[in-house]
Amino acid sequence: MNHCLDCGACCASFRVSFYWAETDAHPGGCVPAALTLPISPYRVAMRGTESAPVHCIALQGQVGQGVSCSIYAQRPSTCREFDVDDPRCNEIRGRFGLPPLPEVPLAA
Ligand code: SF4
Ligand code: SF4
Repeated sequence: MNHCLDCGACCASFRVSFYWAETDAHPGGCVPAALTLPISPYRVAMRGTESAPVHCIALQGQVGQGVSCSIYAQRPSTCREFDVDDPRCNEIRGRFGLPPLPEVPLAA
C-alpha cells in the first residue's frame, strides 16, 4: 500500500531546494526548470515551497485525500530521498490531522 497517495503532507510542508544542475536547464538535469525558482547562486526551489504557506506547484489533488506529483519521474533528489521511513513523516502527517503510519519511526 502506498500511503503517500493519500497524503502529500511533505509536499506542503518543506522548502524543496536542490542543486540547480538537477533542472533541465542543465545537461543531464530533469526537473522542469520552469517549475523552480532560484534561491541562491547554485540552488533552486520548487515553486510554491519557497515561502509559507507551502504547496509545491507540482502537487496535484488535496492533501490528506488523493494526491499525485505531476513530475514524479522527474522530481528532484530532495523528494526522492524523503519517504515514509523518515521520522519527520508522521510528525508532518499529524500537522494535517492525518493518523500516524504504524510502521514509521517517531521523531526523536
Ligand atoms: S508525509 Fe510521509 S506518508 Fe505523507 S507523502 Fe510524505 S512521505 Fe508519504
Ligand atoms: S516535486 Fe513532487 S514529490 Fe517533490 S514536493 Fe513537489 S509534488 Fe512533492
